[in-house]
Amino acid sequence: MPGTKWIFITGGVLSGLGKGLVSASIGKFLQSRGYNVVPVKCDGYLNVDPGTMNPVEHGEVFVLDDGGEVDMDFGHYERFLGVNCKFEWNLTSGKIFQSVINKERSGEYLGKTVQMIPHVTNEIKKRLHKIAREEDADSIVVEIGGTVGDMENMIFLEAVRQMRLDLPEKDSCLVHMTLVPWLKAVGEQKTKPTQHSVKELDSLGLEADVLIGRAENELDKKTKEKISLFCNVPEDHVISNPDVEQVYMIPLNLLEDGMESVISEELELSDRGHDMKKWRELVENLRNPEDSVKISICGKYTDLEDSYVSISEALKHCSAHTGCEVTCNYIETTEIEDGKKTVEESLDGADGVIIPGGFGSRGAEGKIDVAEYCRKNKVPILGICYGLQLMVAEFARNECGLSGANSSEVDKETAHPVIDILPEQKNIETKGGTMRLGGHETSLGEDTLAKEIYGTQEIRERFRHRYEVNPDYHPILEENGMVLSGWAKKENKIVQIVELDDHPFYFATQFHPEFTSTFENPSPVFMGFVRSCMMV
Ligand code: GLN
Repeated sequence: MPGTKWIFITGGVLSGLGKGLVSASIGKFLQSRGYNVVPVKCDGYLNVDPGTMNPVEHGEVFVLDDGGEVDMDFGHYERFLGVNCKFEWNLTSGKIFQSVINKERSGEYLGKTVQMIPHVTNEIKKRLHKIAREEDADSIVVEIGGTVGDMENMIFLEAVRQMRLDLPEKDSCLVHMTLVPWLKAVGEQKTKPTQHSVKELDSLGLEADVLIGRAENELDKKTKEKISLFCNVPEDHVISNPDVEQVYMIPLNLLEDGMESVISEELELSDRGHDMKKWRELVENLRNPEDSVKISICGKYTDLEDSYVSISEALKHCSAHTGCEVTCNYIETTEIEDGKKTVEESLDGADGVIIPGGFGSRGAEGKIDVAEYCRKNKVPILGICYGLQLMVAEFARNECGLSGANSSEVDKETAHPVIDILPEQKNIETKGGTMRLGGHETSLGEDTLAKEIYGTQEIRERFRHRYEVNPDYHPILEENGMVLSGWAKKENKIVQIVELDDHPFYFATQFHPEFTSTFENPSPVFMGFVRSCMMV
């Protein structure tokens, strides 16, 4: 295919309509036609990356193999496309301004007044073109975060306008997604918000080629006609995006409503068939489960389920591959430590428990109680990062006689800091991109559950932590029966996996297996966990 084809995706009316999922879905069916698709996200906020944001406010921080901390939409891109995204593919206002200001200070614009246009827009365009070139991309799907009309993302929209002008007409296409509410009182879908949003877009010099209507149901014929008439797009360029039970249905729904032919027409793509057969089968499994298990996720960000989205998606991947439905019940462990509920009451008969990643002391004792309960009552338990650390603290206290053992993150004065700060992290004061981040190799021990789960000796998984199992305590943990089954390959003292024999599934990882789970290739760790939950 000559030249990169650009698909810009903007949103209107409301945030949270699922633009990331639509971007991933469009990417998916283009990829299934054999194109090399690169997803890019532009975020208006001034943080350089979302690594310093509270997950309850912004949703999960997704970690890439290259160590980048990025917007959670990258999780959707990777889960749909199965590609390793790069930190550079997430443009934030913070990153853009930082580099423009650095250039100004180093004299790169000497003599010039540095302005939003052209200096900031040029920086955005330069970065986008660089990605296209370096990745040899057939197609780039660029999602512009936020909604049209927000002050924050204006500069990105202006850059898109300029790019559309520079590119050959058939090399770019603008997809705008809005909300089409259904008004109960009058019993019809209302198009006015869409009309206003498209007007707003027009006023920025951007003309949408395709409109996607997020609605409870499919868009009615009448609704499509009206949107077409008022918003200046042909009727078949108005596509439905109704509510779905499973997000993995979105690519199939968009295909069904003609999205692929519209994009092919807009971008003059050659006529190749797509292959979504496997995807379709997996979606069918997900929708028609033969079995079901209930899993409790113990955390403190449970107010916003988006803070654990990669975990709940990894569980869905397992559902699609096992045919067993997984329902998640989120537990606030502060309630356990405050004595409001017992562990048993909180778990409420769950078939398995996940203690996910986390930071700080709030809720930690509650998680330790959950770990003890699961260990003693043989409930399958998967610990992730902080989960591993607290499971080790529990084991140290109750099986190794190390009373009061803790992570020094939770208790600086603990007599037994079984979890302690990584030596390389000791002198780091700055925040943002400073943890031990991204993909690292792990060697797995012989005759371990880890080896059985992965079926190989060496794995690569993603990390995001400052603390580790304190090497001084490795011997005593092992003497008391804890199996340290995965080790960092380079920094050979760092424990990456712990497990216990004589338990249906007691397994914890210092890494986050949820970040590498995709719909078509689920995480072996999650598959092992769900299978063991199915057996209890
Ligand atoms: N707070 C812990 C650490 O920094 C765990 C981090 C996490 O769970 N991602 O090591």
